[in-house]
Amino acid sequence: MTDSPRAVENVIILGSGCAGLTAAIYAARANLEPLVVMGVEAGGQLSLTTEVENYPGFPEGILGPELIDRMRRQAERFGSRFAAGDATAVDLSASPFVVEIEGEPHRARALIVCSGASARMMDVPGERRLVGHGVSTCATCDGAFFRDQEVVVVGGGDSAMEEALFLTRFARRVHVVHRRDELRASKIMQERAFANEKIEFLWNTHVTEVLGGSQVEGVRLWNHETGERWEMKVDGVFVAIGHIPNTAIFENQLEMDAQGYLVPQNPGRSLTNVEGVFIGGDVHDHTYRQAITAAGAGCKAAIDAERYLERVGEAPGRVAGASTK
Ligand code: NAP
Repeated sequence: MTDSPRAVENVIILGSGCAGLTAAIYAARANLEPLVVMGVEAGGQLSLTTEVENYPGFPEGILGPELIDRMRRQAERFGSRFAAGDATAVDLSASPFVVEIEGEPHRARALIVCSGASARMMDVPGERRLVGHGVSTCATCDGAFFRDQEVVVVGGGDSAMEEALFLTRFARRVHVVHRRDELRASKIMQERAFANEKIEFLWNTHVTEVLGGSQVEGVRLWNHETGERWEMKVDGVFVAIGHIPNTAIFENQLEMDAQGYLVPQNPGRSLTNVEGVFIGGDVHDHTYRQAITAAGAGCKAAIDAERYLERVGEAPGRVAGASTK
């Protein structure tokens, strides 16, 4: 713990990415003194990117980690409190809810889940070490750094095609490396990718290592059909093999779709199937996945939580004692 816990928190926010920190700013300004559980990937996906050029208000761009740091300071300024580590279990069967933070139980009248989604990684040597130094999971964020360069996109789904097509605006050549001999992507995305002269496909092929010292210099490849192994010089590696929403602890408690994303009860709102539990950000959004949409969703979740607490009669400031029901 970095801040002292309360007997019963007004609101616990899970996640310290764009959504969680925006929820914290709003909840703190409503005098709820939220406790933000930072998570093992503190700062969320933005902290993995370099320059952010599409967040409104920063015409010169801003580094992802700096943007997150500013949001955190803004949340702190109004009284947000922070707990290091991860939420390891939750019990949402009764209010106040129980949230275990690294095994230690905490109680809260309202819960805002902004635990995000993590990009699935290949887990090959060199990959994690070079994230932010040529390895990226977001072409929209980082594509412009690869002007006239050569890049690899790993994956065969819609995300990989979208990334590859977007990257052709900048890169000289885009090599899509896919582990099978046909794509999973929708027909229309496949057709667009096949029609683009800058895109080349490497079928039945796996990246077995990302090469480079302080910056990506190439990849080691293996074709499992031919057995061929070779090295290819590239400047960037975009990993687009799907995302994994961080929702394991909510199984059988919060409604989720087949891919594990949480499902809001009303379109456009942050409400879940459990009264008093709200959601924001990539944990429920596999369509937009932008910093600004996550921030907006975090804001909505905090406003919904504040109204909920007002409705059930827990005015800000009454932090210890009675349950909400
Ligand atoms: P996805 O559809 O699950 O595709 C993941 C791709 O990565 C698959 O081709 C898969 O190979 C490959 N892959 C998975 N694990 C791998 C590994 N360890 N090593 C190498 N390759 C691996 O994920 P997605 O593309 O992110 O799409 C997620 C959802 O969002 C889909 O429903 C998609 O339609 C939707 N989406 C839509 C759009 C759009 O319509 N514009 C854009 C983005 C996403 P296999 O094919 O062999 O399994």
